[in-house]
Amino acid sequence: MSTLPLESTVRGSKAQLARLPSVDRVLNFPAVLRLVERHGRAFVTGEARAMLSDWRARALAAGTAEDFGEARVAGALATRIASRTAPALRPVFNLTGTVLHTNLGRAPLAEEAIERIAQSARAPANLELDLETGERGERDTLIEGLLCELTGAEAASVVNNNAAAVLLTVAALAAKREVIVSRGELIEIGGAFRMPDVMKSAGAKLIEVGTTNRTHPRDYVEAITRRTALVLKAHTSNYVVRGFTAAVDETELAAIAHRAGVPFAVDLGSGSLVDLAACGLPREPLPQEALAHGADVVTFSGDKLLGGPQAGLIVGSRASLAKIRKHPLKRALRVSKLTLAALEATLALYREPERLAERLPTLRLLVRPQSEIAALAKRLAPALARAVGERFVVEDGTVQSQIGSGSLPEEVLPSWGVFIRCRDGDKGSGRRLQGLAASLRALPTPVLGRIADGALILDPRTLTDETGFVAQLPKLGLGSA
Ligand SMILES: *Cc1c(COP(=O)(O)O)cnc(C)c1O
Repeated sequence: MSTLPLESTVRGSKAQLARLPSVDRVLNFPAVLRLVERHGRAFVTGEARAMLSDWRARALAAGTAEDFGEARVAGALATRIASRTAPALRPVFNLTGTVLHTNLGRAPLAEEAIERIAQSARAPANLELDLETGERGERDTLIEGLLCELTGAEAASVVNNNAAAVLLTVAALAAKREVIVSRGELIEIGGAFRMPDVMKSAGAKLIEVGTTNRTHPRDYVEAITRRTALVLKAHTSNYVVRGFTAAVDETELAAIAHRAGVPFAVDLGSGSLVDLAACGLPREPLPQEALAHGADVVTFSGDKLLGGPQAGLIVGSRASLAKIRKHPLKRALRVSKLTLAALEATLALYREPERLAERLPTLRLLVRPQSEIAALAKRLAPALARAVGERFVVEDGTVQSQIGSGSLPEEVLPSWGVFIRCRDGDKGSGRRLQGLAASLRALPTPVLGRIADGALILDPRTLTDETGFVAQLPKLGLGSA
């Protein structure tokens, strides 16, 4: 119980408050004048006022002596302003081991794509202008040629992401009518994208056929009626149905749909424009194969295995794409010139598949040799050991990276990581590792790892700026260095 008499607390805090400088005085401190020069008088005044008001409230409540000297006030204001003006969207070090991490922005772009974004951001561009006729153009035509060339499609379109591509396809081809999907393919991706919900949002009625593990040709044949507008096959990207299973392949399903005069669409999810098996990676279905198997529409993401910007790519028959382009949702889901610039540059790299692993960061990181990652981890371990201090043990060893974004969920890539464990046993070790993870996230360039099996694991497969990573480690403030 407190024994401090109320009287003296109030008197103490009043004396305190008398020493708190006014906003005007603070604004004339030389260090604060420099802040004003950089950030403007109005902003700095507002921040100074808010900070002093917080301090006044705290002094009243606590009644303890605080340093209100010029150096402390100016320093605290500078720190406050630095944190208020730091960009909300910042680069981070992804050492989670997941290469295409949705929460961390998925694919890092190729330099060619980055340059083209900067170029088109700086100046006007022929986004919707036909330079030959001088008439209004269609932004899809900018990448349609390349997409058709690479996939063998007759026509192509681009929207904001693949979820939008599926939504638009269903809305344009099947609104107020029925879409047939196998029960084994009623996917949910990242929580908010559920096939049944997408159907509802697009105004179509979902007709489920087959069972979770087995769907047969007759299931589709029997479900097709006069109300059927579309047969849809969705790639089960983030899970695998194994054991006693059966699915109808694309060629057969295309034939069933076409016999009934109904279009057939495939949502590939990731899709990859080249056979990844050629680079020693697990195989992912290609849009060009789905089209060759008879699909009228194929949708896939721009920022998964393709390694480009966030986008939803729609390729297929001229007739289907004409309907898709005409739908009002197309306008609502369209992409910016920045996306188109990056996408065109990324797609162009696919014209030279033999150089792809060298020029496309996503592929380069996916095929990065384990020996190279191990050498990197071994160089990082001593620097990390110094930075985290005596209370942790740091070792390196094998780990498994993941492709991420629901691509090839069962496939892992052999990698090498740094394991940080608590030195003194298990007691409270979970909480201490969480604390360490929080400190790593608080660094100027936040570092993201993962906690598993009693260790904080940092997988440097995707680390490209080793110098920058090591340079900021002493700021962790835990170790001896
Ligand atoms: C990832 C994925 C989507 C959603 O794609 P976004 O580009 O993230 O919108 C849709 N369908 C499948 C099968 C997917 O794997």
